[in-house]
Amino acid sequence: MDVNTLSRRSGLSLVIATVAMLVAGCTIGDVGEAVRDDAEMRASASASASQGRDAPSPTRGTSGERGTSTSAAPSAPESAPAPVDGDLTGRTIYLDPGHAAVMPANNPQVTDGRGGTKPCQVSGTTANDGWPEHTFNWLMAMEIKDQLEALGATVQLSREDDSGVADCIDLRAEKENSSAADVVVSLHADGAGEGNRGFHVITVADPLPGNDAEGSAELAANIRDGFLAGGFTPSNYLGVDGIDHRSDLTGLNLSTKPKVLVEFGNMRDSTDIALLASEDGRTGMAQAVVRGIIATIGQ
Ligand code: ZN
Repeated sequence: MDVNTLSRRSGLSLVIATVAMLVAGCTIGDVGEAVRDDAEMRASASASASQGRDAPSPTRGTSGERGTSTSAAPSAPESAPAPVDGDLTGRTIYLDPGHAAVMPANNPQVTDGRGGTKPCQVSGTTANDGWPEHTFNWLMAMEIKDQLEALGATVQLSREDDSGVADCIDLRAEKENSSAADVVVSLHADGAGEGNRGFHVITVADPLPGNDAEGSAELAANIRDGFLAGGFTPSNYLGVDGIDHRSDLTGLNLSTKPKVLVEFGNMRDSTDIALLASEDGRTGMAQAVVRGIIATIGQ
């Protein structure tokens, strides 16, 4: 279902769109989500674009400045905070930049971790101009990796680049689980209607016996607090105080580690996309995640 199309219709559409977004939530661009949105298909077609570290879209400007919207509360602070202090020597963090540039040829069904199946991969969402989520996720991974390594940490990644096919969602979880990682953070952005904005951190709902639900909840709260400390505004449309719980995500269902999935913002909202496409914005959001990791496993 195309939420944006619905939202453009008159009369009852506002109610319908609101309900649709509540139902669909961040699933449009989410890992392990069935391909059920036209945007997902468009994302596949544009998936090979935008490999650079700066968003190329003319609608966002070449230098990636923050948005100029003043019509609502900002989702980000006015300036990037000072570098984060902490010591992560000896710690290992696994980063999973969600989705991939190229979809697998036959996109096999894999386990959803609760007895059902899901596609190996979904393409993720896009900004309104086609800038793909998988590239944003990759840029965030690179920024977070740099900051973590500067604090002495070892960082592992679920994919090596932003140009090829990547492991299926179940294999990613298996590799995370068998790694030496102390925590796992999956990186995503959402695709919802204009006006829906802000970050949220997702942890497993209805935990399974193998899940580290307690560790994951602590990590989620600390990363949420890291965002708040940086002046970022929690989601105004999903979760409570910046934290949501879901049982439909393979990557969380299969995890045995402290693990969260971060949705940094809504790529279809004009305020959020200005932040997501901004290098300074990404630096500040990476610092938020790093703060949360330090609070969880710092020395
Ligand atoms: Zn996603």
